[in-house]
Amino acid sequence: MKNIAVLGSTGSIGTQTLEIVRANPDLQVVALAAGTSVDKIEEQVREFHPLIVGMWSEEAAKELKARIADLPVKVVAGMDGLLEIAVMPQSEVLVTAIVGMIGIRPTIAAIEAGKAIALANKETLVTAGHIIMPLAKKCNVPILPVDSEHSAIFQSLNGEPKERIAKILLTASGGPFRGKTREQLQNIRVEDALKHPNWAMGRKITIDSSTLVNKGLEVMEAKWLFGVDLDQIQVVVHPQSIIHSMVEYVDGAIIAQLGTPDMKLPIQYALFYPDRRPMEGKRVDFFELGQITFEKPDIETFTGLKLAYRAMRTGGSLPTVYNAANEKAVSLFLDRKIGYLQIPELIEASMDQHKVIPEPTVEQILEAERQVYEFIDKEVQQ
Ligand code: NDP
Repeated sequence: MKNIAVLGSTGSIGTQTLEIVRANPDLQVVALAAGTSVDKIEEQVREFHPLIVGMWSEEAAKELKARIADLPVKVVAGMDGLLEIAVMPQSEVLVTAIVGMIGIRPTIAAIEAGKAIALANKETLVTAGHIIMPLAKKCNVPILPVDSEHSAIFQSLNGEPKERIAKILLTASGGPFRGKTREQLQNIRVEDALKHPNWAMGRKITIDSSTLVNKGLEVMEAKWLFGVDLDQIQVVVHPQSIIHSMVEYVDGAIIAQLGTPDMKLPIQYALFYPDRRPMEGKRVDFFELGQITFEKPDIETFTGLKLAYRAMRTGGSLPTVYNAANEKAVSLFLDRKIGYLQIPELIEASMDQHKVIPEPTVEQILEAERQVYEFIDKEVQQ
């Protein structure tokens, strides 16, 4: 039996994680956490019987507590609740499937407590990779990638040392607006940006995929996870999303992981690594597929990717600024307060005004996030 705790259990990755639990009786859910979705988490609690359940909002926690008063489940709230779940003695693996930098502190706490991390919450590595990766090494804790591209790289590496890597070829679908000009992007609406051609995901990451900011975050995530130089990571647009990423080795051999676009595979691989379990689902039919294609990313139109390289090359607190500005801008776009192209514009403006801190602590990362939010609020009000 493997005991897992899931942060963000009501979201896209969280619910797919629970589907895997349903299909594998030797997985046991010991904790669940979400933001405010009381109805959904109540159903999950009744089905999976965790020991602890956390809600970000105090109010939602109170309501949940009243609703599940008939069950022997502890209800916790806020950051203290997430931290309690992260370190609970009964859990072996923490699935970090919450969105945004809120995941940093629980991830660090879980590593210190010796838990394996199944990491979906890429924003955590982007902003605090310089703290998390050395800590995981020191505590001898594996960070198992859930992101499909990173799982593909992890599977393609299969234990090979990083000295043998010539290049990481990070594939990208190109999103719904591939091939469009800046002019055509001017009047993109929320509904248009929420339609991803290949993947069904949460709202924020779907917008990030359309702007190529998601790919930018993934480049940074790959750098931290696999310890390669930034120049060794090449983004390859591959619209069919069949090759999930590749590793080119020093002898020129390229090893790739392919499959239909389904997040359950990387989630399951992370949960059972190094084992590979059977899984139901559609298989790639190469005859039906016919052909797959590749393109260079258009970083002049989709500046989100170009800005990510700038943020990572500079390092320090600049990736935090990139990420925080994006989180804020995307949430303003989803609330229809700003236009689509203002997302990369606000990221760039936030990066331009920031004074970089070389090795930021968690407190400095969170303070940089706060300052960026304040800066953007002022910019948008003007
Ligand atoms: P969703 O928006 O679908 O789900 C987010 C989850 O986090 C929900 O359960 C939400 O709860 C919970 N949550 C939000 N804020 C808090 C908080 N403050 N405290 C506790 N829980 C909170 O996101 P995704 O599943 O799409 O993405 C999750 C992470 O995985 C992101 O970092 C994303 O980049 C990454 N990822 C996602 C992929 C995908 O296919 N979806 C692929 C690869 C990576 P509530 O329902 O109550 O709001």
